[in-house]
Amino acid sequence: MQALVLTFIIPATALIFAAVFVGLWWQDRSRVHVAAYAYCYAALGAGVMINIFILQAVTPFGIVAYHLLSMSGLIALLWGTAHRVGLKTPIRAYTASVVFTAGILWAAISAGERDAMMMAQNINSSLLMALAAQNLWHAGSRRLGDRAVVWTLALFSTFGFIRPLLTVFSDTLFGPGEEGAALLLAVHVLVLAVFLTLQALALIATVVSDSSASEREVAAIDPLSGLPMRAMFEREALALKERARERGVAVSVVIADLDHFKRINDTHGHAAGDRVISTFGSLLAGEIRPHDICGRIGGEEFCIIAYKCEGDQAQSLANRLRAATNRMMVPWNTQELGVTASFGVAQWDAHESYSDVFKRADAALYSAKRAGRDCVIRSGEDSLPEAQGEIEAVETTKPGQKPDAAAA
Ligand code: GH3
Ligand code: MG
Ligand code: MG
Repeated sequence: MQALVLTFIIPATALIFAAVFVGLWWQDRSRVHVAAYAYCYAALGAGVMINIFILQAVTPFGIVAYHLLSMSGLIALLWGTAHRVGLKTPIRAYTASVVFTAGILWAAISAGERDAMMMAQNINSSLLMALAAQNLWHAGSRRLGDRAVVWTLALFSTFGFIRPLLTVFSDTLFGPGEEGAALLLAVHVLVLAVFLTLQALALIATVVSDSSASEREVAAIDPLSGLPMRAMFEREALALKERARERGVAVSVVIADLDHFKRINDTHGHAAGDRVISTFGSLLAGEIRPHDICGRIGGEEFCIIAYKCEGDQAQSLANRLRAATNRMMVPWNTQELGVTASFGVAQWDAHESYSDVFKRADAALYSAKRAGRDCVIRSGEDSLPEAQGEIEAVETTKPGQKPDAAAA
């Protein structure tokens, strides 16, 4: 009776976690790795149940069928953990090892060699888990959940090597006869149930932390321009600065603000203003290089961190952006809206904080506004900017025609 209760602990635990993973997968069905975890626990639970009720694992067919089912679950689990972090899984090689081991199991059980059979079965699963744990370790995530997944795989793998030895030395370790065998079974079942639970909890932790990370990401992206908003932008800016410091390259900050933007809102409505903001955001993001970053840091205010870029190069970049903004036409109803923008530029000094360099670039932007707008000023620049004159944001009625072009 006691033994019967014990044998149900593993399938019951596995099936409960299979249901938990189905529920987690159901919330976001794009996460196929969570479906793979569900399959793993379902295959393990179902495999043990079938074993208890139908096959009782005494025939070669029963052993091989159980091996194939439980190993398909293990491969699904290993695939899922690797897929989640973008690693490839050598599924063919894993499957070949499982089929090869199935052949050995068949031969061993036919010859009545139960110890050899158990050894082959455990070595197969332990080796696969050790390989997967090693790959995940090198994948490098230091988050607690990820590390816990690696550790539980390593634990399972180690136990798989020790387990056949416990059986071989059962008489010495647990005493002879039925009592010793019952104790051995209890130890097996309890250790496996604890490991299984730890592993499932570690996997659940990664699923939950992935979801909250992606929610944070969504909240950090401006839906209008598709660019990072202030907080996320600042984090990315600091990371870029750190990379530049390590490599000894210059970084510059460019702040852009649309000129007389209130007039767009007042004249054409807020929806037109939104359209202008999103077009301007796309223009900036499209003009920078892949290593640079761009974010929306205020209503119609954007910031660029230019990597490997000295102050004078950043000034040229800002002038290119200013000219491109001048050419930008935003279709709105039957009209085309034209805008101009002012830019403040500062090179980010090696030991300067983000808020200090931002203040300098912002002060330069303020000077650009005072100097008549539609121009670029670099922090510390005394001379007046290349004069573009004050050009107001007004709509043109003919496609392709800009207000400044009309005035010229
Ligand atoms: P300046 O040339 O001095 O920058 O003049 P401005 O009119 O652009 O002045 P300011 O930068 O102070 O005003 C920005 C305006 O942008 C104020 C606000 O109503 C508007 N705004 C802020 N966020 C949004 C938005 O998401 N959509 C729209 N349509 N308007 C916005
Ligand atoms: Mg403005
Ligand atoms: Mg503004």
